Amino acid sequence: MKRARFRTDYESPIGKGMFKVNTGEWRYQRPITDEDRCRLCAACWLVCPTNSRYAAETHFESDLAYCKGCGMCANECPAGAITMVEEAKAGAKPTEARAR
Ligand code: SF4
Ligand code: SF4
Repeated sequence: MKRARFRTDYESPIGKGMFKVNTGEWRYQRPITDEDRCRLCAACWLVCPTNSRYAAETHFESDLAYCKGCGMCANECPAGAITMVEEAKAGAKPTEARAR
C-alpha cells in the first residue's frame, strides 16, 4: 500500500494564519478525492488558499472546517483525482476541524 511521506502538519506559505475563521461555512461545493488516483504530489496542498489540504494515510484530503470550496485544488490536480460536488449532494457537512 502506498503511504504519504509528505509532511503537511505545518502551514503552507500561502495559507499562513488562516485558522481563525471557519471558512468552511461559506462553501457551496466540496472537493471529493479519489484516493486511488492521488499520486501524493502535493500540488493541491501548495495551491489551497486556506491550507485545508493535508496528507492522510494514503492520499491527500481536505479539512472541511476550513475548505471554502474554491476548486483550485481540483483545477490543479495533475491526476484528476479531485471532483467538486455540490454540498447539497455531498451528504452531511463535517463540523469538526482537524487537529493542528
Ligand atoms: S494534486 Fe491530486 S494527485 Fe497531487 S496530492 Fe493532491 S489530490 Fe493527490
Ligand atoms: S476547494 Fe480545494 S483549494 Fe479550495 S479551499 Fe477547498 S481544499 Fe482548498
